[in-house]
Amino acid sequence: MKIIFLGPPGSGKGTAASRVAPKFGIPHISTGDLFRKNIKEQTEIGKEAKQYMDDGKLVPDEVVINMLKARLEEDDCQEGFILDGFPRTTPQAEMLDGITEIDVVVNMVVPDKIVIARNSSRVSCSKCGEIYNLRTMPTKLKGVCDKCGGSVVRRPDDEPDVIKKRLNIYKEQTEPLIEFYKKKGLIRDVICDNIDQTPEQTLEDVLKVLEEFSS
Ligand code: AMP
Repeated sequence: MKIIFLGPPGSGKGTAASRVAPKFGIPHISTGDLFRKNIKEQTEIGKEAKQYMDDGKLVPDEVVINMLKARLEEDDCQEGFILDGFPRTTPQAEMLDGITEIDVVVNMVVPDKIVIARNSSRVSCSKCGEIYNLRTMPTKLKGVCDKCGGSVVRRPDDEPDVIKKRLNIYKEQTEPLIEFYKKKGLIRDVICDNIDQTPEQTLEDVLKVLEEFSS
């Protein structure tokens, strides 16, 4: 199954995608995570992406598209995948359209107020990337990743000013993709309008939507 998760930053799509992927036995591909890995490893892609990411801007299409294309050619993607954070622009969606057929687009619908509150309490592991939320999903031990013991920190692009910028960019550049995929009949909305909604509840809602496609 080939699934896209669409939604504003902090909508919970990364957490939901990472939990859905093992259930379907397909890889969870987050372009944000791929960039963060490249930054850590100080690759050319990482060096190019870092300035945009820290500033809350989108990395240029050409860079993202080349990186994603290479990832989708790997063996583990041949039976399907979950894309989280890609596509984010119309040229990215058109490129994807040209190389594969998507089965469903899960659209996380989250009001701005909740997006801002969620992002400001979001933290993640600096070693393995696991996401936590100080309100709804804290680590067992303060500041220490439950999974790998790495230190848990706030991402530089989750600072309040940068969040607002990212949200505006989402509205301008990514939201039009909802229409793009609606026209293809692929959009399924998952509504998250409760600030204290747990990741488990969100996961349940997402799985309900995906049931239709897994039988
Ligand atoms: P994320 O972890 O999905 O919130 O992504 C973090 C940052 O990585 C974004 O704010 C962008 O700077 C960059 N990024 C991730 N995916 C893309 C994409 N598809 N197109 C452009 N930039 C991206």
